[in-house]
Amino acid sequence: MADLIKLGNERRMKEVMKLGSTIAMKKRTERGSGNRDGERCTSTNPHSFGNELRACLRCRVVKTYDQFRESGCENCTFFKMEEDPERVVDCTTPNFNGIISAMDPGRSWAARWLRIGRFLPGVYTLAVSETLPEDMQNICEDERVQYVPLKRV
Ligand SMILES: [Zn+2]
Repeated sequence: MADLIKLGNERRMKEVMKLGSTIAMKKRTERGSGNRDGERCTSTNPHSFGNELRACLRCRVVKTYDQFRESGCENCTFFKMEEDPERVVDCTTPNFNGIISAMDPGRSWAARWLRIGRFLPGVYTLAVSETLPEDMQNICEDERVQYVPLKRV
């Protein structure tokens, strides 16, 4: 009987492991895929929901400090956060309110209302409580991208 249970558990474990590797494989291909311009199709989801979460001051995407340091902001690549950890501190904030996940921002009225309709699918905050530093706003101007100082919720 004990053997049977063990066998059952082993089989279940194998199934779980198989499922896990399928998900991992799917993630890998998703990560590798890009749109026509060869850019990313989604923003990386936060690895944790602890104190280390920060939100981009321009697009409001939410990730951990480490994730911003490693891969920057996929919506605001011109900030080049991945090249300079100081930039992560300048362009992101730990002070934000509320979180929304958008899988298809362009087709979500909530995402469009929150002005994230043109950004990549990902996790966003409803509002940040700081404005982008002036020199970073100048970068936006140089890149001809819109920066909307956000109203508090
Ligand atoms: Zn951003």
